[in-house]
Amino acid sequence: MSPSTPFDVAVVGAGVAGLAIAAGSAQLGLRTALIGPRAPVARAERSAPFDVRIYAIAPSAVDLLDRLKVWAAVDAARVQPVAKMRVFGDGGNELSFDAYQAALPRLATIVEESELLRALDAAAGFAPGLTRIEGAFDALQQEADAVRLALAGGQSVAARLVVAADGARSAVRAAAGIGAQELHYEQAAIVANFACERPHHGVAFQWFDPAEGVIALLPLPGERVSLVWSAPRLLAEALAADPGGLASRLSGRAQPHVGALTSIGPAQSFPLRRITVDRMVGRRLALVGDAAHVVHPLAGQGLNLGLADVSEVLRVLAGREDWRDPGDAVLLRRYERSRAEPVGLMRLATHALARLFARDDALSREVRNLGLSALNALPPLKTALIRHAAGPLARP
Ligand SMILES: Cc1cc2nc3c(=O)[nH]c(=O)nc-3n(C[C@H](O)[C@H](O)[C@H](O)COP(=O)(O)OP(=O)(O)OC[C@H]3O[C@@H](n4cnc5c(N)ncnc54)[C@H](O)[C@@H]3O)c2cc1C
Repeated sequence: MSPSTPFDVAVVGAGVAGLAIAAGSAQLGLRTALIGPRAPVARAERSAPFDVRIYAIAPSAVDLLDRLKVWAAVDAARVQPVAKMRVFGDGGNELSFDAYQAALPRLATIVEESELLRALDAAAGFAPGLTRIEGAFDALQQEADAVRLALAGGQSVAARLVVAADGARSAVRAAAGIGAQELHYEQAAIVANFACERPHHGVAFQWFDPAEGVIALLPLPGERVSLVWSAPRLLAEALAADPGGLASRLSGRAQPHVGALTSIGPAQSFPLRRITVDRMVGRRLALVGDAAHVVHPLAGQGLNLGLADVSEVLRVLAGREDWRDPGDAVLLRRYERSRAEPVGLMRLATHALARLFARDDALSREVRNLGLSALNALPPLKTALIRHAAGPLARP
């Protein structure tokens, strides 16, 4: 290929979404450039501590990674299936979701971010026709039949289609003039891993409490759990200032289920916000992952949405008419149309839940506790919700 021939696809951002779409695009036979700094990708020793960034990914996301030949490279000893989820309201009401009852092998799979990045990086390395460029995106310019990307350091790359996978603060999105509205939840998520005294049996626990926020304990392999505590700002600051005290603060909730907790690593804190973009596409441009949407993590769905974007872009590219180039506006419209509803629904649902469970008035308390009990008493609706969360590709 001559240096002036545009790539078919240039992906900006080598996070999970970017690596996945770059590998998938190259596997479709498209000449693909992946632009962005590379994360450290060493295989963790079996005994190495678990990454503090962990994801609960839906069965449909695992299916995508499987199709991209990534999942087989993920160390099975470092992933944990979630068989059941128990959700507790502040009135003591409980809602539970059970994979067995929905005839699914699992509700979700817990995997470390570092392990996902390592497996994706390996798949990208094997993908024929994938060129990695470790520079940072700086600016873009529309040309007659391509987009030219200028990278920091002076390099430039042209492509028929640019995929922005450069995260919540996407510079590509801004350079393309696509507006994004940011709403701050006045909350931060504290994440940390713990050893637990008793086996968790693959159960994830979540507590909703208007004073303390949303506390999730997700099962990790062995007798370990991972905490995601979305706390009001002041409490989050106090928790972050005393990470050693986290285990004792959690003991009242965790003790009856998994026994005492012991810290097994540092805690990290993430400010929580929602980002809504004006459009998911531009001229010869598609946004995927956090560049396209950021939602509250209480449902553990941000990356799942991002991987569903990836799956849809790949589906549209694979099914395109021979004479359409990958940046054709018709293809971009197909992508945008098919993602509008799932992204909108998830944004609405996570936002409504975050707001409902942050309010401490009697009416909100009544609504959420009645809601939990009513839903718990409706097994068919629960099964429908589980199947919806599992994604369209989940097979019973
Ligand atoms: C506390 C917490 C818990 C969560 N738990 C879950 C969960 O259980 N399940 C789930 O599905 N989701 C979860 N999420 C959401 C998930 O973390 C994000 O949706 C996901 O990480 C987004 O991935 P991404 O690849 O789109 O973006 P990122 O991970 O942000 O990757 C963006 C990449 O772009 C690169 N980049 C940035 N700027 C440039 C540039 N100018 N040039 C080149 N490269 C650039 C960056 O270096 C990075 O590699 C959680 C989020 C939080 C905060």
